[in-house]
Amino acid sequence: SSTSRAPRRRTGGGSGPPMFVDEARIQAYGGDGGNGCVSFRREKFVPRGGPDGGDGGDGGSVLLVADQGSTTLLAFRYRREFRGERGRHGSGANKTGRSGGDLTIEVPVGTVVIDDERDLLLADLDRQGAELVVARGGRGGRGNARFAGPTNRAPTRHDPGQPGEQRRLRLELKLLADVGLIGFPNAGKSTLISRLSAARPKIADYPFTTLIPNLGVVSRGGYRSFVMADIPGLIEGAHAGSGLGHRFLRHVERCRLLLHLVDPGAVERDAIEGIRTLDAELAKYREELAGKPQILVLTKADTLGDDRSVVKRLTAFAQRRGTTLLVISAVTGEGLDELVRETGDALDRLAPGPPPDEPADRGEAVEP
Ligand code: GDP
Ligand code: MG
Repeated sequence: SSTSRAPRRRTGGGSGPPMFVDEARIQAYGGDGGNGCVSFRREKFVPRGGPDGGDGGDGGSVLLVADQGSTTLLAFRYRREFRGERGRHGSGANKTGRSGGDLTIEVPVGTVVIDDERDLLLADLDRQGAELVVARGGRGGRGNARFAGPTNRAPTRHDPGQPGEQRRLRLELKLLADVGLIGFPNAGKSTLISRLSAARPKIADYPFTTLIPNLGVVSRGGYRSFVMADIPGLIEGAHAGSGLGHRFLRHVERCRLLLHLVDPGAVERDAIEGIRTLDAELAKYREELAGKPQILVLTKADTLGDDRSVVKRLTAFAQRRGTTLLVISAVTGEGLDELVRETGDALDRLAPGPPPDEPADRGEAVEP
């Protein structure tokens, strides 16, 4: 693939979804090649038999491969150095050293790879399975057997293995939300994201300065993660709708799953009525959004006290809808692990989202 200067980020304008950029810097080292060997056959009565020093093995390379299984760059916060295996040295009896194994690193589909030292765009891994060698392993050196010829029957020449390539890389990924949070104002959406966020992505291309959408990368433990986004402006008034614009809503409407947050304070009025009202708003905004799978979440469980009848009622309601009710408290931490687990499991069951650059081709949004 061709290389070119990394494009400057656009500021404002543009019609695509806003860019939430997750960024990581890694260091890749190709494995060194093994040295060639100097060796001579041992034969009875012949002090120096023919040369039989084998070649060194090639060092392993470091590769990046785009895989739909990951959706964020969170894993690179935990591990930043990647090395190909070194090649083994050659040995006598013309034995070539074993080649070092390649190291393949999975990155999310849509990861842009930049040579960080030269600020050079190396590749946009925009398709499942797209691959890029980022640091080649060194070639193994030749053993002395290679240098034998009619004029030199006992060569001692041999090559050392070549060092592997070293590269400092910058990975950039435009994030798409996997999970959207919906709920009335004060339901606890922002608080939940801040409690669960393992990372806050940079907002690289966002023209609205007054309302910064809330987006977080949630760790599922290990290297797995998903992206959670607040969906503000839906119910929170026309001022928000116009200020926030539909670029963010469009971004969020690509999410695969909605968590519908319900505040027990609102429940006293009528939780089920509230849930229906919000769903109706959702449908008014866009039918597809209303049709997304939902998990119901009762927030602020710490305020419930002893009367948990609300939980019973909502559980029954959730069951009728073919979904589950989770009960959480961002204050005490109750139910948060379960929420991450259930959300992750539900995402696993759903199809992967569209690729980041697919244009949002769903016509114009209706202003709320
Ligand atoms: P949003 O409008 O949906 O984003 O709601 P916020 O996250 O801003 O929360 C609204 C209010 O509820 C804030 O005062 C929070 O501190 C409070 N809150 C959020 N989660 C909890 C919780 O689990 N327990 C309690 N007691 N208060 C909470
Ligand atoms: Mg909020």
